[in-house]
Amino acid sequence: MRDVLVAGGGVIGLSVAWELAQQGVRVTVLERTQPGREASWAGAGMLPPGNTSRACSAEQQLRAQSHLLWPEWSAELREQTGVDNGYRVTGGLHVAFPGDLPALDLERQQWHDEQIPLTDHSAESLRVVEPALSDLLAGGFELPGQAQVRNPRHLKALLVACSQAGVRIECGSPVVQIDQYGGRFRQLRTPSGTHQADACVLAAGPWTGPLLSLIPSLADSPACRAVLGIRPVRGQIVLLNTQPLPFRRMIEYGKRYLVPRPDGRVLVGSTEEDAGFDRSTTSVAIAELIQFAGTLVPALKQAAVEQCWSGLRPVSPDTSPLLGPVPGCDGLFLAAGHGRSGLQMSPVTGVLLRQIMLGQAPCLPPELVACTEDRLPASPEGC
Ligand SMILES: Cc1cc2nc3c(=O)[nH]c(=O)nc-3n(C[C@H](O)[C@H](O)[C@H](O)COP(=O)(O)OP(=O)(O)OC[C@H]3O[C@@H](n4cnc5c(N)ncnc54)[C@H](O)[C@@H]3O)c2cc1C
Repeated sequence: MRDVLVAGGGVIGLSVAWELAQQGVRVTVLERTQPGREASWAGAGMLPPGNTSRACSAEQQLRAQSHLLWPEWSAELREQTGVDNGYRVTGGLHVAFPGDLPALDLERQQWHDEQIPLTDHSAESLRVVEPALSDLLAGGFELPGQAQVRNPRHLKALLVACSQAGVRIECGSPVVQIDQYGGRFRQLRTPSGTHQADACVLAAGPWTGPLLSLIPSLADSPACRAVLGIRPVRGQIVLLNTQPLPFRRMIEYGKRYLVPRPDGRVLVGSTEEDAGFDRSTTSVAIAELIQFAGTLVPALKQAAVEQCWSGLRPVSPDTSPLLGPVPGCDGLFLAAGHGRSGLQMSPVTGVLLRQIMLGQAPCLPPELVACTEDRLPASPEGC
């Protein structure tokens, strides 16, 4: 395999491109607009820890492998490009108010089952480690191995590394047609021309389903229906600015969180909304996020609101990414559907795709993440 096309220049497409290019493959990324401006830019950059020796499910294995790769990738990117992606192991506190303690216990049990180091906290010890937390909180636990990265800086580093490795990135090049011949991938078409290659990776986030539907015979095949089921789930974020920063660790409360950056910014996230491909921010969600921030850390009520944005998470029908060959079309591959964990899982996605495509030993069983018929949850009775 000498030439590969990647459709989509988000963190997933760029990670795959970088991995392949470092092995001498000629890679072209076709990006509809500008690379890394969608969910990959919008995400909070939280990187939860994993444990390869206890990981069973696809999610656990991908998270665990990526947990090992993040420090390596960050150091390598910094060395090669001079760009610091902001990767830091700052730890994460998972907290609860009195009524939420049973839910927190369940959450703690899952980390415990994977034997991921954690520290329990009473209401009092929480405020010893982070004195700015609300005194209404009833307890929590800390994952000391939880890390964070600054998405825009990581994307910048990846773009520079890709270009140093010879990857061609064509901006403003939406893929509008995929041609196959005799069950084999042949070429992609954009409004400005055709691009032929030995293989192609579809890495278009929530737009991957619409891309695959450009090949009607595949779109109708049961094995590919899970790809069509990848849907956009909108997440809104508010950026606060406060000096001095009142806390150091990331703080998670269910699906809501506060991510402190060393420069005094605090990301407050996030919503989960079915809003189609609409990337607006809404007053009701922003007000709710600001109120949440002040409830967890009262000092944030005085913080300046700097910016708000939203992004579209690509969520697959069973919430795990679809990685590997597209059934029924040799030379066509998928790297999509990472949902809430696409930043965290981007290094292992790049590595695994490179291994599968170049016939190298895979770092995890490919069948766990393959696009197969059983990736579609059974329809509810009567539907
Ligand atoms: C609010 C929010 C918070 C998040 N927080 C975290 C977090 O803390 N940790 C974490 O790990 N993950 C997080 N995520 C999830 C993570 O951001 C995503 O899973 C990840 O960015 C998906 O990357 P992607 O490359 O698949 O998709 P995208 O970033 O959407 O990239 C897809 C690219 O494909 C391009 N494209 C689309 N159609 C075409 C076409 N026809 N031709 C060519 N190009 C095309 C698009 O323009 C886009 O650039 C968060 C997401 C959101 C929205």
